[in-house]
Amino acid sequence: MKDNIITADECNEWMKECLLVFPELKRKKLKISYKKISPKTLGYVSANIEKKLDFDPEALLLGEETQIKEKKSRPKDYAIFINDKLQRIANIALRKELVQNIIIHELLHVNNDDLFTLSKGYDRRKKKKIHVNGFDNDVFTRYNQLRGIKGIMKIEKKEHLDIAVHKILETIRWND
Ligand SMILES: [Zn+2]
Repeated sequence: MKDNIITADECNEWMKECLLVFPELKRKKLKISYKKISPKTLGYVSANIEKKLDFDPEALLLGEETQIKEKKSRPKDYAIFINDKLQRIANIALRKELVQNIIIHELLHVNNDDLFTLSKGYDRRKKKKIHVNGFDNDVFTRYNQLRGIKGIMKIEKKEHLDIAVHKILETIRWND
């Protein structure tokens, strides 16, 4: 078994690799860290969505009728959080595979602008709505692309990956 060293920036290094399969996101500001979060959640991404009020200032000041609208701007900064329980996976190479799979999931949300268009209640991963058609398959495809770049054999079926992840989570007493 490999040694169980957890460095503060392992997630950062691993995210950099993940960005190889997300060239579209090169210019986004992304932060990542482990975090103590609910055992139901492997990870999540959040963003600061600025709300600006849009209206005609002259009309307002002169007492004319004006509509005041709330405008949301597209976020520029994102923070990805990985459930710190994954640190229980002692084998670094194995931990890396699980964490990178989660990172790719979150990067896909960033890439799809899900935080902008579906910002309400986004953090609740349970909500099926945020995983629109083909989302999980897309994650699987990009994850396999990354494996290819790293020279690790691709996984043939998504189902096999899902079961493997589930089994590894059982070994670290995920629900305790
Ligand atoms: Zn998600």
